[in-house]
Amino acid sequence: MKVLVAGGAGYIGSHCVRQLLAAGHEPVVLDNFSYGHRAAVPTGVRLHEANLGDASALDRIFKQEGVDLVMHFAAYCYVGESVTAPLKYYLNNVAATYTLLDAVRRHGVKKFVFSSTCATYGVPATLPLVEGMPQAPINPYGQTKLDVENALKALAHSDGLSFAAFRYFNAAGAAEDGSIGEDHDPETHLIPLAIGAAQGNRPALQVFGTDYPTPDGTCQRDYVHVDDLSRAHIAVFAHLDQPGATHFYNLGTGTPTSVREVIQAVERVTGLKVPVKFGERRAGDPPALYANSTKVQAELGWKPKFMSIEPIVATAWRWHSRRPNGYGDR
Ligand code: UDP
Repeated sequence: MKVLVAGGAGYIGSHCVRQLLAAGHEPVVLDNFSYGHRAAVPTGVRLHEANLGDASALDRIFKQEGVDLVMHFAAYCYVGESVTAPLKYYLNNVAATYTLLDAVRRHGVKKFVFSSTCATYGVPATLPLVEGMPQAPINPYGQTKLDVENALKALAHSDGLSFAAFRYFNAAGAAEDGSIGEDHDPETHLIPLAIGAAQGNRPALQVFGTDYPTPDGTCQRDYVHVDDLSRAHIAVFAHLDQPGATHFYNLGTGTPTSVREVIQAVERVTGLKVPVKFGERRAGDPPALYANSTKVQAELGWKPKFMSIEPIVATAWRWHSRRPNGYGDR
């Protein structure tokens, strides 16, 4: 299948492009490189440098490429920034995505795969999170993703668009061969920051809160390997043939892992000490988030290859030890 990957030069998108190639599909990348990296796109994959909200550029690309399916990863993803600069998030994650969806509709593309988030649930009343639970985001980032989920539902009804929205938990790790990995600027995610601190390339890791109602007082999250995430996006293709098909899936391993457990895993994998400072809670962090993923396992036969934190950190370490400055293009 010819797949247009919006945000294909970013962290999750670039891993998905490689998985698409491995599965025999033809990915084409759309990215504006505001956060993506040219070096993350494999040689031989066609690349269109354009903004998601540029309708005439999208027209040109859709005409030229004859796309069968669109995967959409091109979004801003910093929860904290979304609180201080909400319009940046609404303009890109919502308004520009509507422009993309309009192009999808005008060009008769009938299949869409969307990268959503567990942040659409807000603070859950019970855990683990199941797809049917209420969605009440507590920050603009989560709200923008929910807005797009709702637009997709409406388009499935009005236009017969078939779509899947994957609600990610904490994407982590890197390609097993160490060729591509996580490189955000600024970096705010726990695993790259812990590894960078252990390497001496970043300041001591600040642990955000030690007084949570969790077994060791630090937040628990569900870390899921980026290649496992990517595989689900491809496994769903077979379920998008029916016009108007509507799928929502949680993607996580179901295992809660605390900040302290992540630090211990980084120390075991790297053989280095992670310098740590214990600090205040970060605003907007729920104490614990982890998935019930039985739906995606039952319907798509998805089974994460990486079931625990240590092998996930091992892949991240392969990438960061080989490329301590990431792609080096910033
Ligand atoms: N975290 C931390 N120090 C950091 C970055 C993150 O203690 O410098 C914690 C954060 O409070 C959360 C977990 O690590 O409980 C994962 O945070 P991250 O930003 O990686 O992902 P998020 O859960 O916000 O999507």
